[in-house]
Amino acid sequence: MLIVCAEPAVVEAELLAGGLLCPLCRAVLGPWGHGRERVLRCRGADRRLVPRRARCRGCLGTHVLLPDIGLLRRRDEVAVIGAAVEASVAGQGYRRIAGWLGLPADTVRGWLSRFAARADVIREHFTRCAIVLDPELGPIMPAGSVVADALEAIAVTARAWVLRFGPVDPWPVVSRLSGGVLLATRAPAFPWAA
Ligand SMILES: [Zn+2]
Repeated sequence: MLIVCAEPAVVEAELLAGGLLCPLCRAVLGPWGHGRERVLRCRGADRRLVPRRARCRGCLGTHVLLPDIGLLRRRDEVAVIGAAVEASVAGQGYRRIAGWLGLPADTVRGWLSRFAARADVIREHFTRCAIVLDPELGPIMPAGSVVADALEAIAVTARAWVLRFGPVDPWPVVSRLSGGVLLATRAPAFPWAA
């Protein structure tokens, strides 16, 4: 599995140009059909996705290329999940956040508890990402809790990304830099920074 740009034409062009690398061995990926269709719950309208599949020319492994608007095994757009985390750090309860997002309370509670359980790993990973993006970066200030510190590391990384590459929606960048496993249940290692 590899997290890629959400624009299919861009992914296709990168794939055909040999611009996408295997997350396991870093050899070039080539086109290899498509993954199964899935529906991503998004603000506005749901999006049907048929992600591209690619095959590594080195290790011959195949990878589904998931667009960065989502996270691995999550039905909801990463921007919505991120908004829930931000609201929680700002002091909102999960039921209120769920009502505001129009989603089941259990879904939101599930995200927040995964984020809290992985907060230390998330903070460490995104602190490293931020330093790779901006070697001049000063210390990241404590934000008052483990979860707030993790969100602060994400925010600092997103700012460093914007300074380096220009304005973008932050949460898809977060999905990409986390390799899609921001809220993974069985905590696989995060990929090294982009
Ligand atoms: Zn490979």
